[in-house]
Amino acid sequence: MLEAYRDIAPQTTLDEIRALAEVLQGRTIQHINSTRSGGGVAEILRRFVPLTESLGIRARWDVISGPPEFYEVTKAFHNALQGGEADFAARDFDIYLACVKENAARLTLAGDVIVVHDPQPAYLLEYTRPDGAHAVWRCHIDVSRPHERVWRFLRRAVAKYEAAIFHVPQFAQDLPIPQLLIAPSIDPLSDKNRELTDAEVTAVTDRFGIDRRRPILVQVSRFDRFKDPLGVIAAYRLVRQTFDCQLVLAGGGADDDPEGAEVLAEVQAAAAGDPDVFVLELAADSHVAINALQRAATVVLQKSLREGFGLTVAEALWKGTPVVAGAVGGIPTQVFNGVNGFLVHSPEGAAFRLRYLLSHPKQARRMGSRGREHVRRNFLITRHLRDYLLLMITCLYGTKASGPLQLTGGTVEPAVR
Ligand code: UDP
Repeated sequence: MLEAYRDIAPQTTLDEIRALAEVLQGRTIQHINSTRSGGGVAEILRRFVPLTESLGIRARWDVISGPPEFYEVTKAFHNALQGGEADFAARDFDIYLACVKENAARLTLAGDVIVVHDPQPAYLLEYTRPDGAHAVWRCHIDVSRPHERVWRFLRRAVAKYEAAIFHVPQFAQDLPIPQLLIAPSIDPLSDKNRELTDAEVTAVTDRFGIDRRRPILVQVSRFDRFKDPLGVIAAYRLVRQTFDCQLVLAGGGADDDPEGAEVLAEVQAAAAGDPDVFVLELAADSHVAINALQRAATVVLQKSLREGFGLTVAEALWKGTPVVAGAVGGIPTQVFNGVNGFLVHSPEGAAFRLRYLLSHPKQARRMGSRGREHVRRNFLITRHLRDYLLLMITCLYGTKASGPLQLTGGTVEPAVR
């Protein structure tokens, strides 16, 4: 399976993976998160597990579950940790803990290294801690300015892990454990990112009634306020004053996100009556459709107000499509302003940059191709896999004497200046 990446990923990364995997034969890595579909974490794990297994390392992926009230609380935690306003009652914390406790009784924790993803399952290890297992907590959200009470609560659990992993240095916290940086990744061979023929792209745009002869602006995101879909519509309206363009807002729900329907209704209301705005509700397995939309796009938007990383940015850049994105969270590690896209802070700023890209197609293409190279060097699944293997080795064979865990993952220098 690794061989399939030979002409795509940097050769040094593939060599490193083979060497590291030899040391880890027969070992098990176990991932635990809160959804099998929807959102970036599930997107990565779906591809990661078979690839890890193909190297002779066992990979398990377990998912916690709970009643709707659990997801309401965890979504409120998620929003608060990303800096949103929120009020919590003692009951919310009780609901959360009771559900995690039930999951701890149900799940088998069986990895040599256990990676617990995001706040939802963070307290699992409080209730079940297998002897000898090394457990790390991985944070995929933007915790640069977390809600104090919720972070204090979460920190009590996180502090007992062997290490915490963040996407970018800005998310690092005051913690008594080592903190590592590992950036997420995309799989260039998945249906979401593989090459498509022009006919395949047109088949998708035709299916939705999108006109490929006119410029197309695309944002692919869960319907979530932090993704600012209303800000995207506002930017599009400003651009429409001078360009006859179309806007596609494509998204589906995630099992662990109960707010989606409400935000979708707001977006539909804001878009109503404009035949050039396409609000597409996509099924969870619409990978080829998303791939095609990101390729058909003249510009991809990711106008987030908070963002852990923004896989959709890497996906678009990989396809050579320039990106206009919010200057938040992990996005600036992917988009270098004016080099492979633009970073923006408002709908007006987004409209300004969109107008530039629509009126300078040559520069837009050049930006897109720089974006692809940046992703190739830094954000492919192979680099990510290497970092996980390094993590396993560091957990299993590192000694206290060697000091804090150190990884080199997620180098972020721009590929072309
Ligand atoms: N995605 C999808 N269907 C949708 C919306 C998003 O498959 O309707 C995918 C998207 O292509 C990306 C991931 O889900 O791979 C979202 O990851 P990102 O880091 O952009 O945001 P998150 O949802 O994790 O906040």
